[in-house]
Amino acid sequence: MDRSDNALLRYDRQMMLRGFGQEGQERLRQARVAVAGIGGLGSVASLYLAAAGVGYLRLIDYDVVELSNLNRQVIHWSTDLERPKVESAAMKLIQLNPEVKVDAVNEMITRDSVTKLLEDIGLVVDGQDTMQTRMIINEECVRRRIPYIYAAVYGLEGYMTTIVPHAGPCLRCIYPAECPQPEKVPVVGPTPGVMGCLEATEALKLLTGIGRPALGRLIVYDGERMAFQEVAIKKDAHCPVCGRRKR
Ligand SMILES: [Zn+2]
Repeated sequence: MDRSDNALLRYDRQMMLRGFGQEGQERLRQARVAVAGIGGLGSVASLYLAAAGVGYLRLIDYDVVELSNLNRQVIHWSTDLERPKVESAAMKLIQLNPEVKVDAVNEMITRDSVTKLLEDIGLVVDGQDTMQTRMIINEECVRRRIPYIYAAVYGLEGYMTTIVPHAGPCLRCIYPAECPQPEKVPVVGPTPGVMGCLEATEALKLLTGIGRPALGRLIVYDGERMAFQEVAIKKDAHCPVCGRRKR
């Protein structure tokens, strides 16, 4: 490690964790993470990943910041209206931690673009708002055996799980059928805040090797009753994405 103690002071409190240390910090520095969508989930997850010193972050989104985003997409501010979300976010993340390399990719994730967009990436954090795009990401992650941390929100509810291809179920195992999705869903800002934090926690655990990830477990957050639940989820042997035929 060729960095001075002073440079590592930023990470002092996290390196105190058992099993983390300078080695864990070095793993984070070498990590390459894609944040797929810089909305409510991606805002919060990317802030914590940058703060923790993840060495490379690729932000992928194709939207511009709109007024109706600002109740929950806290990385974007009133001064960012009409600016591409990836640019708005990159600017904040670099200010938060100049040691992190941030790439702002202003592109839509499609079947044609996903392979290029996730090139050289070691972990993907979900910040999408449609199941269709999530399934495209899921397939690519399974194909390349990249961990994929899924989260979704609705109102005061949130869902998340950690997908490590072939070590547990993939997103298609959990949601075998396409379901119709409304264009706009109700949501209060703290819901993607909570879920984005859970995603960042899982990412830091996987990258450093500490803790037990939410593999095969769907974590359900119920903000209305202020409760967390856990639903066991299983790998589907006949899954068209990660089932036996594909191995
Ligand atoms: Zn599957």
